[in-house]
Amino acid sequence: MHAIQMVDLKRQYLKIKDEIDQGILEVLDTTAYINGPKVKAFQEGLQQYLSAAHVIPCANGTDALQIAMMALDLQPGDEVIVPAFTYVATAEVIALLRLKPVMVDVDYDTFNLTAELIAKAITPRTKAIVPVNLFGQSCDLEPIMALAEKHGLWVIEDNAQAIGADYTFSDGHTAKTGTIGHIGCTSFYPSKNLGAYGDGGAISTNRTDLAEKMQMVANHGQVRRYYHDVVGVNSRLDAIQAVVLGVKLKRLDEYAAARRAAADFYDQALAGLDWIQTPVRHPKSTHVFHQYTLLVKNGQRDGLQTYLQQKGVPTMIYYPVPLYGQDAFRPFTDLTHLPVTEQLCQEVLSLPIHTELDLEQLNYIVESVKSFGAIKK
Ligand SMILES: *Cc1c(COP(=O)(O)O)cnc(C)c1O
Repeated sequence: MHAIQMVDLKRQYLKIKDEIDQGILEVLDTTAYINGPKVKAFQEGLQQYLSAAHVIPCANGTDALQIAMMALDLQPGDEVIVPAFTYVATAEVIALLRLKPVMVDVDYDTFNLTAELIAKAITPRTKAIVPVNLFGQSCDLEPIMALAEKHGLWVIEDNAQAIGADYTFSDGHTAKTGTIGHIGCTSFYPSKNLGAYGDGGAISTNRTDLAEKMQMVANHGQVRRYYHDVVGVNSRLDAIQAVVLGVKLKRLDEYAAARRAAADFYDQALAGLDWIQTPVRHPKSTHVFHQYTLLVKNGQRDGLQTYLQQKGVPTMIYYPVPLYGQDAFRPFTDLTHLPVTEQLCQEVLSLPIHTELDLEQLNYIVESVKSFGAIKK
């Protein structure tokens, strides 16, 4: 059996090696390292894939979020609603810009914000909401957009974990996550569903005014070279990463299908275990399974992790600490307790999921989980 890894980027690379190597050599040969034809081609490809009017490539997913926030003319102290159960980057950029991250509890089954949970946190100072499409499925965005509209709030989707997922509206039409909020931000960190071989990120929007502003912010606040209209940042996707992403974008749906097949296998094999909750799929979203995250409900999550580790099955805890429990955010919040977030931090355990898992590995993983259950009975 191949060694089991959380992600197996090597075996994935070997299947696309010729195309990747040739594209990278072309970049070296033409010396178009920055903003060349490869970046343009990927940008257009992603626009088309998402059916988004505008895509702005940038240096990483955290920058994408920061550039989005900077484009919205928010004032120090303005409140931005985020889930307390997410990766740090979501709230970090808010704090960096001297805005106030308002951390909200999430839905136990989907790990995501809901309109009801957000509504309770809206104040006269609220200016924006950042729903995070966590672990690979969309938040229920239609009611969130309706709530935002009612209160005049911006919605920035943190779509770093759910690129490629489809959300279905109540009238039956679908849209890609990252194009439903006013702005969508994603990350091409190597282990993400669309991963580069280094850092990368992108911003999507259907609004031309926001696209122009974000393009300007990402490029030192200039439209015309050496004339700077606002204080911006330098955030670019480099051409070598654009090559890798272009090759992988063509296969993104195939990759999602491979992840979903592994998830289906886990779902079926673990369905009978009353001490485990397998991921709940929201009926309005497809799931691209950035993570396959169990809830271990018998108080033995850490024990299971150690046991699996000994059997050669790596697992991860995303996330062990609520945002408001992080020292970094102490100056930004008085929160000390959100019940669902805290329960999730105690119960979540993510199993390996990627495009290269084979049946032998999957069988071994589920048998290992089940054998722990047998011991602990
Ligand atoms: C990965 C990730 C980011 C940040 O992306 P980077 O490219 O690592 O900066 C932001 N939000 C979420 C939810 C993520 O998973």
